[in-house]
Amino acid sequence: MTAIPFDNSYVRFPERFFARVTPSAVRSPRLLRLNTALAEQLGLDPVWLAGPDGTEMLAGNRVAEGAEPIATAYAGHQFGGFSPQLGDGRAVLLGEVIDRDGKRRDIQLKGAGLTPFSRRGDGRAALGPVLREYIVSEAMAALGVPTTRALAAVLTGETVRRETLLPGAVLTRVASSHIRIGTFQFFAARSDVEGLRLLADHVIARHYPDVRASTAPYLALLEAVIAVQAALVARWMQIGFIHGVMNTDNMSIAGETLDYGPCAFMDAYDPGTVFSAIDERGRYAYGNQPPVARWNLTRFAEALLPLLADDQDHAVELAQAALNQFDEQFQSALIGGFRRKLGLFADEADDVVMIKTLLDTMQRGQADFTLVFRRLSSDGTAAAAGSACRDLFGNPAEFDNWESAWQQRLAREAISPAERVKTMRAVNPLFIPRNHRVEVAIEAAVERQDLAPFEDLLAVLANPYDEQPGREDYARPPAAHERVLATFCGT
Ligand code: AMP
Ligand code: MG
Repeated sequence: MTAIPFDNSYVRFPERFFARVTPSAVRSPRLLRLNTALAEQLGLDPVWLAGPDGTEMLAGNRVAEGAEPIATAYAGHQFGGFSPQLGDGRAVLLGEVIDRDGKRRDIQLKGAGLTPFSRRGDGRAALGPVLREYIVSEAMAALGVPTTRALAAVLTGETVRRETLLPGAVLTRVASSHIRIGTFQFFAARSDVEGLRLLADHVIARHYPDVRASTAPYLALLEAVIAVQAALVARWMQIGFIHGVMNTDNMSIAGETLDYGPCAFMDAYDPGTVFSAIDERGRYAYGNQPPVARWNLTRFAEALLPLLADDQDHAVELAQAALNQFDEQFQSALIGGFRRKLGLFADEADDVVMIKTLLDTMQRGQADFTLVFRRLSSDGTAAAAGSACRDLFGNPAEFDNWESAWQQRLAREAISPAERVKTMRAVNPLFIPRNHRVEVAIEAAVERQDLAPFEDLLAVLANPYDEQPGREDYARPPAAHERVLATFCGT
């Protein structure tokens, strides 16, 4: 019996799409965490995965039957500068499986050793970043945001050298695919139109089957990717998520949040918030994410130009028209999302101003983004919600003004207060992976081999919209001394 029912497609591409690799074995693999529910969703046996053979596979020490491990080739713009060749330098795609819903999913080991794309890197991952990706990607999934998933974390028993020596680990990542904007750029940069077309056809069949019916399928593909990226970034903005490294090689064509490096959630609302230590100029600050997404999509459109039309001027016109849809799609997703967060169902012209005024008031009052919305949805009556909320503002009188306007606006809604609170709670999380909590969990695991804080945090974040008696402290913003000012990708 084969333990994993692989059904691989990417490895059927011509050889220039990837390099065949074998994960490098590690000294003494130890399974730290298995995502049992995800394993079952993928049709994998969690008992086998957690056993000795499964752990060996998750560490890269044993290639499971049916796996055809490869490192994929891609390019990308990193902080605005183009690298024609990046590729999986420390990740190995074992293969694909068809999950319980009939969806094709990649199974990839991140930190599995050197590949032809490793450049100066060691092909490895440190425990801290592995746990961070595990926590935050699973939290995003529970929040309902499209994302790659974490299937397992394994300790290697080896150290990796970063600024210091750190315990090494391997993350098993699951994605709808690992195809990025940068994958298209790889072929475009080589004027490899045949490769581009093969890739586009694969992406259409795999992620956007509806596009096949279009008379201009490649233009329809561009439009589809623009639409999912606009929707994705609008979701990020609504929960205070900061990706941190929105390079084109980290933007999934399938519209999932991909590559959790120095990502973090914002506490007090400020569009300029940046955590990533390498993002000195704030290119990927919270408030810059929408224009950066559009910039990245423009790079995607450029890569697709040879497929859009034979005449290049015409291709550029088509691409431009498609890109011009981004702003409206993003704005409408964003406004729609904030309307739901405020319990507004009817569509009134002044709602946009009301949302903007609240955000500006939060910024001036350094109010906690997550808790403001949660407290506005914390009670059956608007008045009670307001009083719980005003404590969060350094400028409570200003909040009071906004709140009375909000109450007048709510009075014009047909929905009952109880119903409104219910719907608001379903979109305003109580629990997010707060940076200081993530750091505590990582530190306990790395410094003291104590996984209890990691497990506790995962358990809380599995139900981010539910009150959890005894877990109130996980909803609390950091005190001044707990505040995390910088995050690192640890590569
Ligand atoms: P990332 O910052 O994780 O998006 O990675 C950017 C590029 O650097 C990708 O091509 C990675 O494969 C590569 N890379 C990152 N860390 C390592 C590492 N430790 N060893 C080899 N390549 C790496
Ligand atoms: Mg990356």
